[in-house]
Order: sequence, then C-alpha cells, then structure tokens
Amino acid sequence: MYFITFEGIDQSGKSTQLKLLDQAMEAAGVPVLSVREPGGTEIGEKIRELLLGVEHDRMDAWTEALLYAAARVQLVKEVIKPALMEGKIVLSDRFIDSSLVYQGMARDLGVDRILDLNLGATGGLMPDLTFVFHLDLTLSRERLAGRGTAEDRIEGEPLAFHQKVEEGYRRLQEMYPGRIVGIDGGGSVDEIHQQVVAGCRERLGLEL
Ligand code: ADP
Repeated sequence: MYFITFEGIDQSGKSTQLKLLDQAMEAAGVPVLSVREPGGTEIGEKIRELLLGVEHDRMDAWTEALLYAAARVQLVKEVIKPALMEGKIVLSDRFIDSSLVYQGMARDLGVDRILDLNLGATGGLMPDLTFVFHLDLTLSRERLAGRGTAEDRIEGEPLAFHQKVEEGYRRLQEMYPGRIVGIDGGGSVDEIHQQVVAGCRERLGLEL
C-alpha cells in the first residue's frame, strides 16, 4: 500500500524509529513489513558484503553506485513490490535517497544520473513518505564510537565525507518537500516517535 523510508547519516536513529513505527503499526492492526538496505535478499546480502567490507578499499564510486542499485533491484522485485501488492505498508531503513546523497552528492556522481539509474532499475519505485533524521556529526561519531563494533567501509570515510552527506540530506529535503519530512534526531526517542507517527497521520492519513 504505502512505502515509507527512513534516511539520515549513520547513528541518526533510523533503525530505532523504524522499529518503533513497525510496532505501532502492528499494535494498530496495520499490515506492515520492514526491510533494510543494502540486503534483504540472498543476492543482496552478498552485495552488502562487497559494499561494506573494509578490505574493498579500492572500490570505484561508480562500482559502489551500481552495486547499491543492484541490491535495491533484488529487494524491490523480490520483497517490496510483492508486499505492497498484498496491501502491506513497507518500511525501509534507507532507500533511493541514500544513493542520491552518498553517491550522487558526496561522491559527486550527479544526482540526476543516480536518480535515472535507480528509477530505471527499480521500475520507477519512489517512497510515498520519507523521514530524514538530522543529527550533529559530532554526536553521530560519539554514538558510533560507543557502539563497540568496528566501522564498515562507508562509516570509516573521513568526517568531510559525512559532512557532505548531512548537507546533501538537507538539499534533498528542499528538492522533495512534499515527500520528505525532516526530523531533529537530537530529541528523545519517544519525542521523535511521536513526530514520526504524526507525519504518517498527516501525510498519509494513517490511523495510528
Ligand atoms: P541508525 O539506524 O540511524 O544508524 P540507530 O537507530 O541504530 O541509528 O541508533 C544509533 C544509536 O543511537 C543506538 O545506540 C540507539 O540506541 C541510539 N539512539 C537512537 N535514537 C536516539 C535518541 N533519540 N536519543 C539518544 N540515543 C538514540
């Protein structure tokens, strides 16, 4: 039915909020399916290893863009589209906007080219609603350091790269004001959850 995505820099609270929205939908009796990118299919999980493995430090930016798109195609065709056709609401931790920002803007490949690539590959699927969580970069790095697990290839990029990503999300929000709801990720988990629920009510008319 509706396709809702969660975007923002690492540690901005995407997966925390996705889980809470999934639970709220379950409690309200709304059929829901949650996924995360890259991955979620057999082929996609293999591509995820290629993309995030720190040993792949010679990966060209276009290779990266094409691999993200390839994993996305599998997820759309095998999981997301069938679930939407069954009348479910699909929640995704990252989707096309991550490619527009990380590869199109931060890696300078061009937003229009990355948009065309992804729309062509997925049959034109765009989210109905997107929440972008904005978080201070210092806080993001602190949360990452406190997590206790090693950084992946993208997390390990220098601060200037993550700065471009955060700025990119702000630009994207200006490009798609009807679809993207920006949220301050510095608030409490519960406050942010209430804003996400309000966004679903106001933008999609969902009764939660
Ligand atoms: P992401 O999926 O964007 O990488 P997570 O949802 O995994 O982010 O959150 C990253 C870390 O920050 C986790 O340890 C999580 O518990 C914590 N966290 C998430 N949201 C908040 C919040 N609003 N306030 C404080 N800590 C948070």
